[in-house]
This record gives sequence, structure tokens and C-alpha cells, in this order.
Amino acid sequence: MSNTKYVFVTGGVTSSLGKGIIAASLAKLLQQRGFTVTIQKLDPYINIDPGTLNPYEHGECYVTDDGAETDLDLGHYERFLNIPTSQANNVTTGKIYQSVINKERKGVFLGKTVQVIPHITDEIKRRIQILGDTGDYDIVITEIGGTVGDIESLPYVESVRQMLWEKGEENAIVIHLTLIPYLAAAGELKTKPTQHSVKMLMQSGVSPNILVCRTEHEISDDIKRKLALFCNVKKEDVIQSIDAETIYDVPNLMLAEGLDEVVLKKFNLSSEQQPELKVWNEFLKKHKNPTSKVEIALIGKYIELQDSYKSITEAFIHAGSSNETKVKVRWIHSESLTVENIENKLKGVNGILVAPGFGDRGIDGKIKAVQFARENKIPFFGICLGMQMAVIEFSKNVLGLTDAFSTEMKKECKNPVINLMESQKEVTEKGGTMRLGAWDCNVSKNSKAYNAYQSEFISERHRHRYEFNNEYLEAIESAGLKATGVNPKTGLVEVVEIPTHPWFVGVQYHPEYKSTVLNPHPLFVDFIKAALKQSK
Ligand code: GLN
Repeated sequence: MSNTKYVFVTGGVTSSLGKGIIAASLAKLLQQRGFTVTIQKLDPYINIDPGTLNPYEHGECYVTDDGAETDLDLGHYERFLNIPTSQANNVTTGKIYQSVINKERKGVFLGKTVQVIPHITDEIKRRIQILGDTGDYDIVITEIGGTVGDIESLPYVESVRQMLWEKGEENAIVIHLTLIPYLAAAGELKTKPTQHSVKMLMQSGVSPNILVCRTEHEISDDIKRKLALFCNVKKEDVIQSIDAETIYDVPNLMLAEGLDEVVLKKFNLSSEQQPELKVWNEFLKKHKNPTSKVEIALIGKYIELQDSYKSITEAFIHAGSSNETKVKVRWIHSESLTVENIENKLKGVNGILVAPGFGDRGIDGKIKAVQFARENKIPFFGICLGMQMAVIEFSKNVLGLTDAFSTEMKKECKNPVINLMESQKEVTEKGGTMRLGAWDCNVSKNSKAYNAYQSEFISERHRHRYEFNNEYLEAIESAGLKATGVNPKTGLVEVVEIPTHPWFVGVQYHPEYKSTVLNPHPLFVDFIKAALKQSK
């Protein structure tokens, strides 16, 4: 048995309080004190993974190196901790039930009645301990999705209760993140909703060890005392989490509040060392004190919910800081772009990013945006579908293949410059069947990509079914769009560029997933650099 300590993070009162950011901030502080930490998210929905969810439902689908399609919180974990997550870091009710039902069909339960308790809760506990049992982590932080009181969270809360009992106080604790609303009319912060949500947890046999209180205003000592008294915690275990200017301030705010110290004390762990936040704070300083500014148009079809592009906007923040530049995003709905308005809508932008996506809604606008960037020599970055649209635009308007398209949108098109991958032709199921996760790519020297990466060998994460059709490679290259990144085994084109353009790069993969505070993604850094040059 490993000595891993477990921290459970639950949420009370409302959703969207930022459990993921609190978990990531605590993990960061513990990591910078020298502990090995990972974070896991348990999602109470019945989908096996968010891969089949429309981005409007839950925002972006994040992808790990080992090809898991996950909740966007895993992106925060990686951006904060700078270490990769994996399949084991995101568990859903769908996955839990799937394994229990598969076992039942195999007869593993030997004629017993299969029930939520113990079979579902045992499977939840097994999934929680998979990470701890690797022996790689001193501390595993498990974030329970949803809000305490939701029917679908009950088996998770029960599993937490059992684990607290099995592991003992020194090895497992609960942090309850809650909201302290401010009533302007009364001029008061209110503790009652928190009292109720803690009571609700207690009805399930779980008594939180630490309260983290989201608030718009400073919480006084009196309020802390009151919360402590009514919620069964010590006053020093009531931690304020005041609204921050940026999510990247939260580790410092939690440090000032002593969240990491309180946690270590509960575990009887000592650490002489204070968290080492030098590089983190250099990033923050540059982020908050930019010396210049660029504006980037983000062309996508899910822009009503900006969380759909979470990793891209965070990658802009990392790359902006590294260029000491403020990156302003101009959100443009691809469906809204027409020949008549495009000039107006894109006037003054210093760079254009055409976003990933699926299906044909808004496709024409994406193609027009590529053309605008290409013809007006504005830095262009195409990601996944954005890269495919760049290939189509170039084939149509430069190569003269007027009917060039992708078979995703036009099954019968005459010149399928983007085509379904051979390996996808037999695939009938939607979930988890794309080309997913990290694949190698060889980068040609003398390319913008090489210039950015400073390496000929890279590995990036993918999530797609369609690809550059190599039957057109020669024609497209001789017309001036070069394939500068290729999968060494399959020959699949991963990067395309126009060498005569100031910065025109399309990538079949998703570089945004690998951008972190400590390692801003080289292509984003270079794209912002090019935009900065354009702005001058
Ligand atoms: N729809 C395209 C494909 O499946 C692009 C996917 C994406 O942008 N992630 O290939």
C-alpha cells in the first residue's frame, strides 16, 4: 500500500465556483514545496467522456497524451502543474457503470445482486486509488464535479465518506468550496447557504475539514468564527477565496490565506520549504505589465460560449506574457462572415486564428477568413479544422481547383483535398474513435514551425477523423503551400505553411493543449510575435 494522501474537493451552493482552479492552485503550492501531486476530476454525468458532447454543453473537450477526451478542468491542471494528465485523471459515471456492467456480464459478481452500494462505490474508490497506487504521488487531489445535494453526486459523496473512514483523518480530507453571497441591500455577506450545504454533506456522513469561501468582499474574522461554529471546522480552516483579476493569481491568494499549510498540518506533513513561485510570478508580472498590445481575431462557431476555446485563450495568455504583450481576442462567429462585411469585421486585427470544429456550419466564413489573411499578409494560424480550411482555400483560390473541399462537408466532392483517414473508414461508433492523443511529427528545417520549435522532432495531441489528401501534395506544394511537418510513419501531413507569407501556419494537431504557464507553446509564442511585428 502506498502512503499517498487524498484531498477531496467538493462544491456547495452553486456550480461555477472554480473548484478546478482551487484544486490546481493548492496542487501548485504543494508541488512548489517539493511534493509530487496530481489532480483527478470525477464527473457525475452518464456520458462515457465529453468527446460526444457539443461544446455548448460543457465547453472545450480537452485531450491528454494518451488520448483521453476529458473535461476542460484537466487543461487547468496541466497548465498549472506543468505535468501531463492521463486517462486515469478523468472519471465519469458512464465509465463507472460501464466497468461494473461489463463485470456483471462476465459473471465476476458470482450471482450476487449488483447494487450502487457496494459495487458502484467500490468502482469509484478503485478509480480514485489508481493514481495513488502508482506510487508516483505524495498527494492526489480529487475534484468531485457538480454541487453537493445533486442526486447524481450521491454515490461519489458516499465513496468519499468510505475512503475518509478507511484511510483515517491523517490520510484523507475534504475541502468544501462554497459561496458566501453579498446582499447589497443589506450590505452584508451571508453564511446561511454555506451552513445549509455543509449540513447537506453531513447528512451523507461527510464533515468537511476545510472550507474555502468564494466571495466578492473580504470575509471578516467574525464571519469566519460564525462559519467555523456552524460548520464544525476550526476558524483557521476557513479560507477566503476572493474574486481574482486572473485565475493565475489564485495560487498566490491561497498562499496568503495559508491553504497549503492548513492541508499539510492535517496530514501531519512538514515542509521547511516555502512554495517556490519565482518563475510563476515572473510570468504574472509580464502578463500584468505588457509593453505592447495585439488584437487577434478568433474565428469559430461556438463563440457564444467562450469556454469552448479555453485552451486556445489560455495559450494566448501564456504566449502574450512571454512576448510582454497584451493579447486581445476579437471573437468572430464564422457564420457571420460574408464577402460584404469581412473587411470591416477583420479591420485592424494583427492576426487571425481559425479554430477547430466539426461539421459544415460556418465553414464558408472560415474559408473567407483564411483567404483574407493570406491575401492581406496578416499572420494566420489554423488549428485542426482551421488547417483543413487553409488547405481548401489554397486549393480553390491559388491552385484553381474550384471544387476542392473536405469529404466531411461534401461527401461527393470532385477534389477531396481533405479526406477521411483510411483508418476511419471502418469506424461506425462516434465515442472515442477519432485519431486521438500524441503522435510524432518530423519538422523540416527552414520552416516557420522549425523556427518556433527549434527542433525537428515534436509530438503533439490530436483529435480528428479527416486528413490532408496526399494525392494532392505535389500540386499543392508546387503552387506554394508547403507541408513542413509530417508523421514519420504514415506520411500524414501535420503542418502546412506558405513560406512567402509573413506567418501562415496550419496544424492538424492541437498545440493549445500543451501550452502551460512554465512552457508557453512555441507556435503560439511565434504567432503572437508575428502579430506584434504586423502591428508595428
Ligand atoms: N472535423 C475535422 C476532422 O475531424 C477537424 C477536427 C478538429 O478541428 N478537431 O478531421
